[in-house]
Amino acid sequence: MKVTVDLDKCSDHGQCVFAAPDVFALNSRGELTFRDVAKGTYVSGELDEDLRDSIEEAIDVCPMQAIEIED
Ligand code: SF4
Repeated sequence: MKVTVDLDKCSDHGQCVFAAPDVFALNSRGELTFRDVAKGTYVSGELDEDLRDSIEEAIDVCPMQAIEIED
């Protein structure tokens, strides 16, 4: 399982960080840390299945519908 985040849609408000803190974080500028390593669409490495529930919660709470799971 991988997670993708459309950084063009993301508004950096951080709801995903509260839902899935093991996957999402904000940097010192208050931006999603994925912006430090990607532009456009961020694609994660392979993630542990144990994280699926929290990622699905992040998908549900993301106001911009920027997060998706790739199986
Ligand atoms: S919840 Fe969605 S819009 Fe907000 S920071 Fe996370 S990915 Fe970006």
